[in-house]
Amino acid sequence: MMAMRVLVIEDEQKMADLIKRGLEEEGMQIETAFDGETGAQAALTGNHDLIILDLGLPGRDGLQVAHDLREGGLKTPILILTAQDSTEMKVAGLDTGADDYLTKPFAFAELLARIRALLRRTHTEDTTKIQIGDLVLNLINRRASRAGKEVQLTNKEFSLLEYFMRHPDEILSRETLSEKVWEETFDTLTNVIDVYINYLRNKVDRNYEPKLIHTVRGIGYMLKTPSVESQMVAEAKA
Ligand code: CA
Repeated sequence: MMAMRVLVIEDEQKMADLIKRGLEEEGMQIETAFDGETGAQAALTGNHDLIILDLGLPGRDGLQVAHDLREGGLKTPILILTAQDSTEMKVAGLDTGADDYLTKPFAFAELLARIRALLRRTHTEDTTKIQIGDLVLNLINRRASRAGKEVQLTNKEFSLLEYFMRHPDEILSRETLSEKVWEETFDTLTNVIDVYINYLRNKVDRNYEPKLIHTVRGIGYMLKTPSVESQMVAEAKA
């Protein structure tokens, strides 16, 4: 099984380290962010299985971060950590779309139990949507969006993009794409694949950063999961 990827947004370094070390011992992969701004960026670009979000953060506070993430279409479960032992804060947190909360101080076993429950919940659901970076495919109504803007795709383009998104960071040869997406052998399609990749790039990549669809010279194509760094460079340029 793939390691669960957890994003911890927590400004208290000690607390963040504690959570990171504890969860790494459980075999999870942890990314940390120490303020709301960086955390929200990381959340939107990182394909995490779970986000642990402190409410008291400098700059953009946790409530605002949770709100912004849900507004941005992110469905990743959010577990709120709060020192404020007030019912209003918890309710406000859950109202923004967070999935559960834990009041500090907490026992680590309690945190683990909550995390497991949340991961169980989402791993049996969410087969309705694929997301890579800010590119989102809704499999129910077959709509696509990038950076929150709808991208109009033909049926074939959608299927091609879906195949890429189900195999991120894998080199896909033209042969593979013709068999899996067109269900035909490559020789009947010759440069059809390249033409379609061009269509997709124009719609999905041309006006956006970072580029997701890459040519692997002489072999085929790859949809690359954007790193947080490249996403931030793109934002700085914009
Ligand atoms: Ca804090």
